[in-house]
Amino acid sequence: MKAAVLDSIKAPLRVEDRPIPEPKPTEIIVRQRITGICYRDILEQDGFFPRAKFPVVPGHEITGIVTNVGSEVRGFRIADRVASLIYKPCGTCTYCMSGNENLCPNKVTYGENVDGSYAEYIAIDQKSAVKVPNGVGEYEAAIASCVTGMIVHAIRKIGNIKPGQKILITGAGGGVGSHAVEVSKLLGATVIAETSSPDKSEVLKSLGADHVVQFSERFDRKVRDIIPEGVDLALETTGNYTFEQALRSLKVGGGMIVVGNINPEPAKLPLGILILKGNSVTGSISSTRNDLGEALELAASGKFKAVIDKTYDIEDVNMAYSEIRSRKNTGKVFLKFR
Ligand SMILES: [Zn+2]
Ligand SMILES: [Zn+2]
Repeated sequence: MKAAVLDSIKAPLRVEDRPIPEPKPTEIIVRQRITGICYRDILEQDGFFPRAKFPVVPGHEITGIVTNVGSEVRGFRIADRVASLIYKPCGTCTYCMSGNENLCPNKVTYGENVDGSYAEYIAIDQKSAVKVPNGVGEYEAAIASCVTGMIVHAIRKIGNIKPGQKILITGAGGGVGSHAVEVSKLLGATVIAETSSPDKSEVLKSLGADHVVQFSERFDRKVRDIIPEGVDLALETTGNYTFEQALRSLKVGGGMIVVGNINPEPAKLPLGILILKGNSVTGSISSTRNDLGEALELAASGKFKAVIDKTYDIEDVNMAYSEIRSRKNTGKVFLKFR
């Protein structure tokens, strides 16, 4: 099988032939046709994840058909269609036991601590796998954990968004932001989409954005022109580029949820605003099996569609990275194996 390998920090990816992996007792072998590229994978190449093992097969947006199962696997068999969490939870810590496995301190992340999804066949643990219901497309299944499930977790579970509330989504043209626009609309919110690319406005409106705001030094003023009292919730998908303005866009008592940090420089936090307006800033990480199930249900309903920018052959993975780095993509960039 073909696999793309990252040998070390800053190295270009290298495509090589590898044997199909054999399952350990609790593992499932999944044959993939496609996988998503995540900004997290780009940050890994930049050296943002010091605990990554090298060389590593990056990638964690996993879906496909089961081709082999380990001796202790229960509930999955050959030919099942599955999607996967981006990590293997330990299954025994207090977080795992209370359904908060996204916070598991012992989790092992695919594409980082073990080989990931930039390969036609991948070994995943049965604790990571969820069956894909009928009616879910393969692109929707591939992003169900890292993108859709992560958004569901952030804005519904942590942000507790209600129909009619107003949400600001920063970096709305990107892989996370574009799908966050869709999910927020499905949950009944009014969506203000912030983007730095004027040419992404129409796409964002077609995805359901009620208002599109162009990035500027003080785009919070444009948000206030639209919603004078400020938004109920801000979903911060980019990090320090937009953090302060997103905070300034909140209404009194409003909250921000941070899910993206594409620039590792710390953000500036105006404490006076936080105190005087009683705002909250919360981080949200990844998704649980429950969130993954909800994301797949959204896709099965037919109301949620993946925003596909382009699908590259695995051999062209470095080209795909360049496109994402230039932030020209609207929606997700994928890799295909044949
Ligand atoms: Zn991802
Ligand atoms: Zn755990």
